[in-house]
Amino acid sequence: MRASRRPTAVVVGAGIGGLAAACALHRDGWTVTVLEKRLPIEPVGAGIAIAPNGLRALDTIGVGDRIRQLAAIQGSAALRRPDGRILATTSADAFRVRFGDPMVLATRAAVLDALLAPLPSDTLRAGTVVDVDPGAADRPAAVTTAEGDRFEADLVVGGDGIRSTVRRCVLPDQPAPRYAGFTTWRAISPMPSSPLTVGETWGRGRIFGAMPLADERVYWYATANRPAGQRLADLRAEVLAVFDGWHAPIPDLITSVSSDAILHLDVHWTATPPPALHRGRVALLGDAVHAMTPNLGQGGNQALEDAVDLAAVLARHDAVVTTALPQYTALRLPRTSAVVRKSRRMGAMGQWQSRPAVGLRDTVIRLSARVSSDFALVPLDGVMGWRPVPRS
Ligand SMILES: Cc1cc2nc3c(=O)[nH]c(=O)nc-3n(C[C@H](O)[C@H](O)[C@H](O)COP(=O)(O)OP(=O)(O)OC[C@H]3O[C@@H](n4cnc5c(N)ncnc54)[C@H](O)[C@@H]3O)c2cc1C
Repeated sequence: MRASRRPTAVVVGAGIGGLAAACALHRDGWTVTVLEKRLPIEPVGAGIAIAPNGLRALDTIGVGDRIRQLAAIQGSAALRRPDGRILATTSADAFRVRFGDPMVLATRAAVLDALLAPLPSDTLRAGTVVDVDPGAADRPAAVTTAEGDRFEADLVVGGDGIRSTVRRCVLPDQPAPRYAGFTTWRAISPMPSSPLTVGETWGRGRIFGAMPLADERVYWYATANRPAGQRLADLRAEVLAVFDGWHAPIPDLITSVSSDAILHLDVHWTATPPPALHRGRVALLGDAVHAMTPNLGQGGNQALEDAVDLAAVLARHDAVVTTALPQYTALRLPRTSAVVRKSRRMGAMGQWQSRPAVGLRDTVIRLSARVSSDFALVPLDGVMGWRPVPRS
């Protein structure tokens, strides 16, 4: 069924993936409605690293340069041990030379603002989607909201995050994401008085990362192995205890924020790849269908890739949704499944706890970094070298 009028899309979820899909479709002449259960939008998480592949995706929807302006990481970044000893270094320049773009650390709010800017003001609507009919070649898809509204459209995009209702409706046999065995804390702190050590510090089953934001503040994240579901009353005291004795300025970064400003999240990931990223007229993207551990910093970047490749595949098929979506799955499922696996492998290494295993890991990293200065960047080639699929 070729659309002879402006094709219509309902996007479920105004996260990074959903809004990027809305922008891409809007640019291609679709009439788009985005349904979001939490308005005004509260960005999930404090900061986010937009990688060169994510910037290329953003370029196709005209907002890449707005995010590039926020690049603040200068000089070198290092992987350290908890006592501060350096295991490996890389630099912002080496990163730029290898991948053609910087790694941009931005607040989530800045990324969402950039994605909302190109959309007509009536695109975003309040609505909690509770049911989805995937439709078929001869009838539209439809979503129903908890508020009692029903929306029909040529295309439904499920960008509703890790607990996705859209996924449950269209892929009912897909297992829920699995706990990765570690929890995370994230916050934005003022710049510490002692020098900021940009990069990550790996201990036994614990990681602390810190990076500067464009506005002179610092985004930090921390992970630690522990059973799911543990919640302590005082988050700041909890994180301080986990990183007690770690090198400066880690304790200062933690003490400079209040417990209320720390986000705590148990990490889950899509351990079983889905059979497809679509059903009927419904396409799934981002965490809704391929949640990954945060170790490669790729969850949001993959959602951006999904969004622009989805629009490109639809454009190649003249907006004939039921022909285009199998192509979307064929294009994106192998790629996203590989990134999910790679991120998990990296995460597993960061979670090692036994003293001998961690000692061996640190020695291998130190020696490899001596042999090749680009050692830390080589594994990222396949991930960050991505280019958008041609539109014709
Ligand atoms: C500690 C940590 C650090 C990370 N760091 C990075 C990083 O540096 N770089 C990176 O690329 N990724 C990173 N990620 C991953 C990244 O946060 C996610 O992959 C990304 O936010 C997924 O975007 P999304 O649009 O798919 O989903 P989400 O951002 O979860 O958005 C989903 C939206 O859907 C809405 N919604 C949910 N259900 C419904 C419903 N039924 N009806 C209507 N609306 C609904 C939600 O309210 C939300 O607004 C990190 C993750 C963690 C845990």
